[in-house]
Amino acid sequence: MNHRQVIVVGAGPVGMAAALSLRALGRPVTVLEAGAEDRLRPGSRAIFVHRATLEVLDRSSPGLAADLAAHGLIWQTKRTFYAGTQVFARTYPPPPAGTLPHFTSLPQVETERYLLQACKAAGVEFVWNAEVTGAESTMDGVALATSTGDRWTAEYVIAADGSRSPVRAALGIPMEGSRSDGWYVVVDVEEDAGDPLPVERVFHYAHPSVDGRNVLLVPYAGGWRVDLQLHDGDDPDALSSGEGLREWLRAVMPPAYADRVAWASTYRFLQVVAADFADPARRVLLAGEAAHLFAPFGARGMNSGVPDADAAATAVHIALSTPVAARARAAVDDFALSRRRAAMFNRDAAGTALTHLRPGPAERAAQEGAAQGADRDESLGHWLDTAPYGPRELPPGNTIYKY
Ligand SMILES: Cc1cc2nc3c(=O)[nH]c(=O)nc-3n(C[C@H](O)[C@H](O)[C@H](O)COP(=O)(O)OP(=O)(O)OC[C@H]3O[C@@H](n4cnc5c(N)ncnc54)[C@H](O)[C@@H]3O)c2cc1C
Repeated sequence: MNHRQVIVVGAGPVGMAAALSLRALGRPVTVLEAGAEDRLRPGSRAIFVHRATLEVLDRSSPGLAADLAAHGLIWQTKRTFYAGTQVFARTYPPPPAGTLPHFTSLPQVETERYLLQACKAAGVEFVWNAEVTGAESTMDGVALATSTGDRWTAEYVIAADGSRSPVRAALGIPMEGSRSDGWYVVVDVEEDAGDPLPVERVFHYAHPSVDGRNVLLVPYAGGWRVDLQLHDGDDPDALSSGEGLREWLRAVMPPAYADRVAWASTYRFLQVVAADFADPARRVLLAGEAAHLFAPFGARGMNSGVPDADAAATAVHIALSTPVAARARAAVDDFALSRRRAAMFNRDAAGTALTHLRPGPAERAAQEGAAQGADRDESLGHWLDTAPYGPRELPPGNTIYKY
């Protein structure tokens, strides 16, 4: 039996952000992670890190934001095309020296590498190869079982164990929402240093070289994220592997890039939020993908998981600081309510983007009309450029979370 004051389950970006926030509040913290320390995490994941996320991380670990910003890539130009014709372009000045950029773009594995270094420097205890297989929660605390047969107890647990969240499942908290219609192929392509592309974010409505499918190209440090939106009836497997994948990549990028694929995955995106962000005993707090899953347009996944983590750590700190049980419970209630509200906001925002990308007849007519008028009225091109990512706003209270 191992007892700790606070245990975080999962050493993904959200679990590590929670651990950093707890250390910044002076709490000892132990992270139980199913994988090995040198595990390879397959698949395309977060590249776009918002400034609000950098600010939260920097409060816990001063200097971390500057490291992530310096490693990441900050593209200054964005373009949007409609059926092959440019309808919008804008170039921004570089961020002033000494300030944080609006965003930085780097592979999630690199973000995790910096988070791990920061956690180790802050004295976070990691237990690798510790897959949590069971969780029980009472008014007095939480008991966790692992696949190695160990038992751990804690006064509070932050569950950041990802979308399948065995902790959430053990506590019987359901996810609510739906799966979007339509398939997307998401590909990571390594940069070709011999034939570099302009560092620009480019969105194509109805790309003429791929039978009118939508295509998004986003640069990140070391490569390109390329999203292809499939037509109804397309075979996702055929377009995400072998010659089927190479053929459409050659049509949207210089041909050599088709042989530089690092990952290719197919998605139908879930738009789901946990029914409650804490268990009935108010001892287990859910954060990140354990609590919500959104379509990635607008980059609201990790960017809302980090504030979840910070808010969970703050709530746990308050709960541990008071001798009054009702006050402790209220801190967790506040966390659960406010972060669930933020998740609903983010789910709706990602849903708005999905609706724009899969328009009905009226929306499609509006998009075509905007494309036709964009050379006369810049606001129409601006709308076409921004709408695929949903509304710009972050949920209320996302940046700084205080009681
Ligand atoms: C294609 C794509 C693009 C995306 N782009 C962006 C983007 O640009 N910006 C953005 O903000 N978000 C983006 N996201 C979302 C982002 O990747 C996720 O929000 C993020 O990974 C969630 O982090 P997490 O720590 O909650 O979960 P995870 O990253 O899944 O980490 C969970 C951790 O828990 C561990 N674990 C699981 N089960 C157990 C167990 N039983 N016991 C112990 N440990 C366990 C896992 O091994 C893992 O280390 C994207 C996602 C996709 C799929």
